[in-house]
Amino acid sequence: MRYDVAIKTGIEKMRIQGVCLQNVTDYSSFGVTLDGRTMQGDGYRYGMNSQEKVDEISGAGNHYTATHWEYDPRLGSRWNQDPKPNPSISNYAAFANNSIWYSDPLGDTIRVTTANQGYFMEDLTAVFGQDASLLFEFDKNNNLTFTRAGQIKSYREQSLGTNKGDVYTGVLTLVNSEEVTNIVYTNKEITNPETGQPYENDKGQKLTSPVQKSGGEATITISDAKTQKLKNVSQNTVVILIDKVHSPGLYDDPRENNTFHGMGHVLYQKNSEQEKVIDFDNKSRRERNAPLRPVDSGHKNKPDNN
Ligand SMILES: [Zn+2]
Repeated sequence: MRYDVAIKTGIEKMRIQGVCLQNVTDYSSFGVTLDGRTMQGDGYRYGMNSQEKVDEISGAGNHYTATHWEYDPRLGSRWNQDPKPNPSISNYAAFANNSIWYSDPLGDTIRVTTANQGYFMEDLTAVFGQDASLLFEFDKNNNLTFTRAGQIKSYREQSLGTNKGDVYTGVLTLVNSEEVTNIVYTNKEITNPETGQPYENDKGQKLTSPVQKSGGEATITISDAKTQKLKNVSQNTVVILIDKVHSPGLYDDPRENNTFHGMGHVLYQKNSEQEKVIDFDNKSRRERNAPLRPVDSGHKNKPDNN
């Protein structure tokens, strides 16, 4: 049992209006609500990691349900086998048996087609050196996963606060994000890797070759699709020109700069966080002693218009 590891604290749904605190919940490390440390108002159905609780099955706070699982937080195990299993751990494991480090709202990830996985691993190696192949691998569904070494918490602790550690945390965030992020290497027009449909704007025009126009990288996020009325966008997609030399006079960046730049755009999708994209990009450059990229007008923070 792992209840001795640590206590996760969640204060959820606080309503400041007239100071009405509706829910305060302390959890065991795998999500059991703790007696005497939990206060819940009526009708609030969610628990750890905003997962929906099903109190009818095993009593209050002792069962969770989500898109891909039925989960018992007292055992830290799922009822059904993981639809995206990792060969190095049990198919019934949850949070890779490390609930402090991982959260897995839908079990989604960074996805790279088989043909492009070599490029992506090269780009990871540019930042992580030989650690890249020790830390990361692709499963049979083309999802980026962590190797056993990659799951060891100490790596992150040792590297925390360094450029490499911050880039690692960014990759970890994308792997654990609810949304799939596709990494696509191409010299052609962009199609949705999930559906094969070309991306279009609201006038039905195909988005042809934005990678060439933008200097080697284009990022299409689900939030872009909403604000720019793009069609056929169902997942985040980072598109990187395969050629290392492109758009002379724009940027002569090597490919890996564009890969991490694009991941920065997925991590920081808000208008008000555009300078963080450059910050993330530059962390990967510092690790490789590459020239830093200045904040330009295209990446200045703007007010979020929502
Ligand atoms: Zn950019």
